[in-house]
Amino acid sequence: MKKIVAYPGTFDPITNGHLDIIKRGANLFDELVIFVAESNEKNPLFTFKERIEMAQCLAKEFNNVSVVSFKGLLTTCLKESNIKVVLRGLRTMSDFEYEFQMALINKKLYPDLETVLLMSSSEFVFLSSSLVREIALLGGDISKFVPPYVEKMLKRRTVNDGRGLCI
Ligand code: ADP
Repeated sequence: MKKIVAYPGTFDPITNGHLDIIKRGANLFDELVIFVAESNEKNPLFTFKERIEMAQCLAKEFNNVSVVSFKGLLTTCLKESNIKVVLRGLRTMSDFEYEFQMALINKKLYPDLETVLLMSSSEFVFLSSSLVREIALLGGDISKFVPPYVEKMLKRRTVNDGRGLCI
């Protein structure tokens, strides 16, 4: 039987840290499905459609990675898709507390579900979508932090001459 794993997130936007987890997850499992969450409550910079498109663009680089989108409870969607493993990334202790809590509550909601946590590679420990958004909005260079397609999308969204303002 094929081992399928779901990698859920808001991906606002997808960063090289996410990409690293996707690469490593796709090596560990037969298939990896990126689950893009609507996450309206997080008031994302990118629309649901844009975040799905960015994930699809990256998934094309792999032969065992695909993308689905979901609204509402992840566990409901995983049950419907008959996926029993969920992958998440861990950077810091605060990630650990949150992920541990999520894993335990998801297990209550869907007892067959297992959560696999992959530790961030050292070069991406500092990287988060929120920091990338902030740097982009302030006109900084984000080329080291995101794939080229995402960089283009961020530049289009955050019109700024990059010089900063000294007042
Ligand atoms: P969510 O809103 O579900 O937290 P995110 O897109 O912020 O969605 O993150 C999705 C997953 O990717 C989370 O498990 C998060 O810890 C992980 N992640 C984000 N950035 C990194 C990174 N730099 N290295 C490893 N894991 C990461």
